[in-house]
Amino acid sequence: MAGHIPPTMRALMLHRFEGPLELEEIPVPAPSAGEVLLRVHACAVDQFDLTIRAGKRSNARVPLVLGHEIAGEVAGFGRGVEGWEPGDRVASTLYLTCGECRRCRSGRETICERFGGYVGIETPGGYAEYTTVPAANLVRLPESIGYVEGSVLANAVGTPFHAFTKRMRLQPAERLLITGAGGGVGIHAVQLARAMGALVMAADLGSAKLDAARRYGAHVAVDPTVEDLAEAARRWTEGAGVDAVLELVGPDTMPHSIASLGRGGRVVVVGSHTGRDLTLDLHALFANEWEILGSRNVSKEELADVVRLAADGRITPVVEGGYRLGDAEELHRRVAGGEVIGRVVIEP
Ligand SMILES: [Zn+2]
Repeated sequence: MAGHIPPTMRALMLHRFEGPLELEEIPVPAPSAGEVLLRVHACAVDQFDLTIRAGKRSNARVPLVLGHEIAGEVAGFGRGVEGWEPGDRVASTLYLTCGECRRCRSGRETICERFGGYVGIETPGGYAEYTTVPAANLVRLPESIGYVEGSVLANAVGTPFHAFTKRMRLQPAERLLITGAGGGVGIHAVQLARAMGALVMAADLGSAKLDAARRYGAHVAVDPTVEDLAEAARRWTEGAGVDAVLELVGPDTMPHSIASLGRGGRVVVVGSHTGRDLTLDLHALFANEWEILGSRNVSKEELADVVRLAADGRITPVVEGGYRLGDAEELHRRVAGGEVIGRVVIEP
């Protein structure tokens, strides 16, 4: 149970962009109307945290508590919150959505027309012992899923789930290329694609990530700095090209992803941390009837399916917990250096 709520808590504060994360004792936040106070038990470190910290998100304001992959227990409520009890085990989604627009009402809240931003930017994040999130963002965690595992379901697992099921419409026996396959989203994408019956070629940098991708189900793994990715994809498919690509990297790999496509192939772009711009051969696009689609995060409804997959053991969250708030600097260095397979998780 959540028990007594102290007046103050430890939190990692970012006072200036590109500055240090400072461990401080600050007041426990009071939940506003519609919000829940969470005792944070786990908060995963995402590449996106580093982007925010570097001041590359124009809507971010300091001082700020980072962290948007959060699991914990309900400890208190603002006005008008119903359906939750103190001690309920939950994970939180990261998008602040209106719940009322036509996108929200049709289960596509990740493209909410009155999108309010992100947990960990517009509201305080989970690099703290307590945080507040909208009750609408909570999803229940069964006892069989630990907090560390539960913290990554809404983003690192939910993102490829939405991409595969709703956007790519991945089919059994299709040949799929995943770029960035050893990272936090990628390693879960590999598992989900295998669970859906696809054949998987993984691309990432370095043998550790490629070994991990193979361990979690990739049939083939390629380092695009060692081997030409499109050539490897053609060879793997006897010249036909892949049916689909999950693009997690951006301009560094996207031209190779497109060059790997067979006729009628589709690319779903889920991330682009290496930049934003792309030159596209429009003739090749229409002549091959390629589809290039965007996908972001996961809906609450889909997330319930993701939680079930994890509870049933069909997906294994690839997480490394046991870290404290004071370890965050080291964890950010490891994520920046591309050294993390899956997710590292702080347990405040
Ligand atoms: Zn909306």
